[in-house]
Amino acid sequence: MTQLLAEARSAVHAAERARATWQDFVQPLEDATERLSRAWGQVEHLHGVLDSPALREAYNASLPHVTQFWTELGQNLRLFEKYRELQASPEAAGLAPARRKLLENALRDFRLGGAELPAELKPRYAAIQEELASLSAKFSENVLDATNAFSLVVGEERIAGLPEDVLAAAREAAEKDGKPGWKFNLQMPSYLPVMQYADDRALRETLYWESATRASEFGKPEWDNTPLIERILRLRKEDAQLLGYANFAQLSLVPKMAQTPEQVIDFLRDLAHRARPFAERDLAELRAFARTELGLDPLQSWDLAYASEKLRAQRYAFSDQEVKQYFPEPQVLAGMFQLVQTLYQVAISESAAESWHADVRFFDIRNLRGELIGRFFIDLYARETKRGGAWMDGAISRRRRESGIQVPVAYLNCNFSRPIGGKPALFTHDEVITLFHEFGHGLHHLLTRVEDLGVAGINGVEWDAVELPSQFMENFCWEWQVLKHMTRHVDTGEALPRALFDRMVAAKNFQSGLATLRQIEFALFDMRLHSEFDPAAGRPAHAGGAALELLDEVRREVAVLTPPAWNRFPNSFSHVFAGGYAAGYYSYKWAEVLSADAYSLFEENRAEDGAPDPATGVRFRDEILAVGGSRPAAESFRAFRGREPSVDALLRHSGMIPA
Ligand code: ZN
Repeated sequence: MTQLLAEARSAVHAAERARATWQDFVQPLEDATERLSRAWGQVEHLHGVLDSPALREAYNASLPHVTQFWTELGQNLRLFEKYRELQASPEAAGLAPARRKLLENALRDFRLGGAELPAELKPRYAAIQEELASLSAKFSENVLDATNAFSLVVGEERIAGLPEDVLAAAREAAEKDGKPGWKFNLQMPSYLPVMQYADDRALRETLYWESATRASEFGKPEWDNTPLIERILRLRKEDAQLLGYANFAQLSLVPKMAQTPEQVIDFLRDLAHRARPFAERDLAELRAFARTELGLDPLQSWDLAYASEKLRAQRYAFSDQEVKQYFPEPQVLAGMFQLVQTLYQVAISESAAESWHADVRFFDIRNLRGELIGRFFIDLYARETKRGGAWMDGAISRRRRESGIQVPVAYLNCNFSRPIGGKPALFTHDEVITLFHEFGHGLHHLLTRVEDLGVAGINGVEWDAVELPSQFMENFCWEWQVLKHMTRHVDTGEALPRALFDRMVAAKNFQSGLATLRQIEFALFDMRLHSEFDPAAGRPAHAGGAALELLDEVRREVAVLTPPAWNRFPNSFSHVFAGGYAAGYYSYKWAEVLSADAYSLFEENRAEDGAPDPATGVRFRDEILAVGGSRPAAESFRAFRGREPSVDALLRHSGMIPA
């Protein structure tokens, strides 16, 4: 890394003095930074999948140097000038569209990083960035400290209803403290099961109160996030205004697919309006069930998860365990590959490559002419040395080199259970969906035809559109004609019974109205907070601050469920105040609309026997996957779908069909 960093730095110095042409300036800079990022990508990958003490030490030793290099690159005004010179030169007009896009992206990122600010404003801009970074860090530390500060040890009379594994963990936690009984806390693996399963209503109420008031004025003053929220909003607004935008929401949307805060707000309100009748129905059913079957009346916030779980279990009696028997690994992989081969007109075959673990497999993708177009590693099982979750990473990106096309390579990583007792690994339906999701990201990376690395595959794709291909692939896991070919009972060999599949579909849409409104509430709150919030407007009437006032207003507009007045949700809304989702929380729903609507073209063009239409697949490959970040996602979507996105398909897939 030391050597690569030195080489990259000298390439940057050379680029600063080079002629402002693609050949002399952009190309060498890309070559040098690619060498660095590819090598570091491998280190990061190993850090994620094979974390040993020695590797971790080496990784942590290099990380600050690598981060510093990229920060300097983003602030390098000589490079910014050079890009501007190239943009203004006669060469720019003749560049291929992908290269023009790359150039635009580079200039945009410099501008959003403050490169164009007059010298006298730069110190203020830098001070804002620094203060925001430390406020965000403090915000999440406060949430973490407040979360960890609470625990409760209870006796046997209060644990009824809780599952075995949860109790075992709670027992162990109490034992660690040398206490009898069961210890619960506010971390998700303990908190969620209590809310879902604990028959003791007062226990649920206590944990709910503790969780809903974290990092607020009800706890330790030094952990109260209320003043931080106001300060963060104030600074974000100032930051946006320095860069020439009216508010932070406008600034946040510049590199995204959504154009204006108003467009996002209209989108959310429209969706809320359509989901509302279904949410009201969900709630009425839940209230009636809770009253008659559980004796819970009125239904309180700490009863919601509990009553929902009881209703779900009563209505759709099947278990993950039962479904899992039908999804052995070989059948699932073969089914997924078969689908992709038919849809995108490619051939996938197992190949060999050096890898980091004996569990890892390696595959080639060829086009119909037999040319190698992409390769991927697949690492399916959980290991102690692998971080949690599932993810796709690009190992090598496609680009044209003097020697020819550089074939892209992807890593697909999951945390599924490994084969046991001589049988193949068995996947839950959720795991199958996860696999399709990650493979969707992988195909976006691998089936690109773009020849410039910066906009090939998922590179340069707008943040609120990057989940389109992945969520799109998930839809096939709910397609009977696809699914039945990927199932085979591990003992009996029979395919998934249709009746079980129908129950799975029904359970998928359980309370989708309520879930939709909840996401919209958060997204609308976030967007209005960053577009309308006025830090200069007087003292808030609400004890929880001005942000909470706005949240109340949003709830009056879109929510069917109102939490207790003492709920301090904003104080632990880390996505928005400590993460990258500020004026971006809407993107969850946004991407879902895009992927559902894209998928609806497959539903319209379905073959008579219900099989997905290959011509539509080829169109998806050409208009979405192949073009990657080389043109705006909105254009790619229109080219594929033939019109603007519509929310209808998402509503239909969620079981929300107007009567
Ligand atoms: Zn994803």
